[in-house]
Amino acid sequence: MHVRTLTGHLAVAALLSLPLLSGEAVAAVPSADAAGVPAAARVLTYDASGSAEFRAAVDRGAAIWNESVEGAELRPATAGQRANIRVLADDGWPRALTTSLGNGTVWIGRQAVDQGYDTVRISSHELGHILGLPDRKPGPCSSLMSGSTAGTACTNPYPNAAEKAEVEDNFGEAAGSPSAVAERVPVLVED
Ligand SMILES: [Zn+2]
Repeated sequence: MHVRTLTGHLAVAALLSLPLLSGEAVAAVPSADAAGVPAAARVLTYDASGSAEFRAAVDRGAAIWNESVEGAELRPATAGQRANIRVLADDGWPRALTTSLGNGTVWIGRQAVDQGYDTVRISSHELGHILGLPDRKPGPCSSLMSGSTAGTACTNPYPNAAEKAEVEDNFGEAAGSPSAVAERVPVLVED
């Protein structure tokens, strides 16, 4: 009888300690390094409100990255929220200005769309630059970062295995060493 009561008390104590333990686990996840530099955000918000007729293609491009990698997740920014990535439409050639890993501006240029290039592949390709991928030209259609060199008939919007692995590496390294992100300089990549 006495033993049963004691066991009951221990069980209650164990249950009560659970919320405290999970709270400590959350607090232990680092949000900044010792120098106060924010760690690279795994969740990256994008603002496609300026992407005009390409908005659906941009959303599809973001969804493709979310299906393809674990290290980064692209989410539409909420109204008034400062987004990591701005996506705009203009009449130039598609390009991306990456200010740091996961941050920058993408232009979905109508010049390439008018020539027949696929809007989802363009969107996914330019977002790939923001996720730290360089162009790989010339290259086959199976490569997302081969860009326009794969020709207008190529509509593949998916990164290949190497491209996926490179993005995973980029965000894995960034999480382990935030200074690696801070040292990156802005890079403008056309197409
Ligand atoms: Zn490119």
